[in-house]
Amino acid sequence: MSLFVASLNSGSNGNCYYIGNQNEAILIDAGISCRETERRLRRLGLSLGNVKAIFVTHEHSDHVHGIPSIHKKFKIPVYITTRTLLKAQLTKAEAYNFKAYEAISIGDLSIQAFPILHDATDPHNFIISNKGVNVGIFTDIGDVTDHVIRNFKQCHAAFLESNYDDELLETGRYPIALKNRIRGGYGHLSNVQAGKLFTDHKPHFMSHLFLGHLSRNNNSPRIVQNLFESISGTTEIVVASRYKETKLFSIQAPSGSQSPSFYSGVEFPVQLELF
Ligand SMILES: [Zn+2]
Ligand SMILES: [Zn+2]
Repeated sequence: MSLFVASLNSGSNGNCYYIGNQNEAILIDAGISCRETERRLRRLGLSLGNVKAIFVTHEHSDHVHGIPSIHKKFKIPVYITTRTLLKAQLTKAEAYNFKAYEAISIGDLSIQAFPILHDATDPHNFIISNKGVNVGIFTDIGDVTDHVIRNFKQCHAAFLESNYDDELLETGRYPIALKNRIRGGYGHLSNVQAGKLFTDHKPHFMSHLFLGHLSRNNNSPRIVQNLFESISGTTEIVVASRYKETKLFSIQAPSGSQSPSFYSGVEFPVQLELF
């Protein structure tokens, strides 16, 4: 069984990741407009028609900007914590709560959230599982916690933030307060931190690593590509763009391998007030 994945956009100008099987799909975040989301999916041979849910990591506009326009046209349910919903003020979304480590089923997809450190109200990241294939989203992470490590170790493919190059941030034009916010434990992962997470905790079955949320001012795709290709081993490295979609990738559990499959519970979410 495969999971099909793509980044539709990745960066402080908008984040949106597609994960699906043959029958259904979800988006993690919807940070670009409905029109652009549709256009990029169409180029991949996909459509919002089989996207059954949008899961929201946190309320920053680069992660939720497209939700009102997508809701208006497609009425796709949004899974978002109560506290994040209040902060994001998504007044028209059909919203459902989720809790960390309580799996939610969307058809054959199982989605489990875990908490992260970030300067947002109630930030989470996700593991999406489908018949033994696990794909993780690791973005907007201030620090590499045990939650991050534990989940990263389960992934056949991971979208991992690699936000800034230490030297470019240090010598760049950002005010010192902003520099400290970015690197201060509740901001973003540097290339070095992302690289260390990968080398220290990558499982042997990780076939693809997507690097994302690259800073426009404090990083470059070339730096990230070079760094990760030097440590990639058997894992394919893909740097996700701030401006366009990646290809659609098929992620599979290697045949005969013991794939981790730890999502068995079916959780029926409680619908939140629509306001
Ligand atoms: Zn972000
Ligand atoms: Zn953020």
